[in-house]
Amino acid sequence: MTYSIRSSVGSRQAWQTIVAFVCMALVAGAVMVQAADPDPLQDFCVADLSPSAPRVNGFPCKDRANVTSKDFLFTDFRTAGNVSVTGTNAYPSFGTVFEYPALNTLGISHVRLDFGIGGVVPPHTHPLSSETLFVVQGSIYTGFISFDGVLYAETLQQGDIYIFPRGTLHFQINVGTGPAISFNSLNSQYPGFLVAANQFLLSNIPAAVLEASLGISNATDLNSVEASVPPFWGK
Ligand code: MN
Repeated sequence: MTYSIRSSVGSRQAWQTIVAFVCMALVAGAVMVQAADPDPLQDFCVADLSPSAPRVNGFPCKDRANVTSKDFLFTDFRTAGNVSVTGTNAYPSFGTVFEYPALNTLGISHVRLDFGIGGVVPPHTHPLSSETLFVVQGSIYTGFISFDGVLYAETLQQGDIYIFPRGTLHFQINVGTGPAISFNSLNSQYPGFLVAANQFLLSNIPAAVLEASLGISNATDLNSVEASVPPFWGK
């Protein structure tokens, strides 16, 4: 009888321990879900991008019977981007799930950056992923701003890699004497690409908000700043 009571108490303690661990695991799991794309539920799921396909968290899968090896091949990066059309002498070629549907559910995407001499990719963020930049050609000065406002930046040479932590503001400029190319990888199938100047100045935020934020009291000054932002880089 005594043994039975002790066993019952011990069992209750064990259950309390298990419940505590389960709660900790749930919290950790919630944090992990926030940290990157959700884990896939199958080996692949080539996206059906047709407008009529139902939208979920990602895209529905193409009928597996119609999937071939070609679905996993992406050739858009064979050709350089046209740096003359962006207003900053640099061009981003994207390999997200929209251009490369085989990435659907796999938590990865790519960008090829082409730079003319002095070319710039303006400060921007990717809300859904971290990013690595690998210098294929040339020399690139690049960096990011940490959450506490510190600039971490370096001049990279061919073969070097830099990383931009998820959500941080970052930029690139070609500081070499010729063209530069980088190949970037991001741990989201669609990381988001938010260019700070364009979002801030070209998204119809009321002028009073922008003027106060910039310390400008003259609408003419604001208009001239807005007019000078290269529209290519989006809102
Ligand atoms: Mn980036």
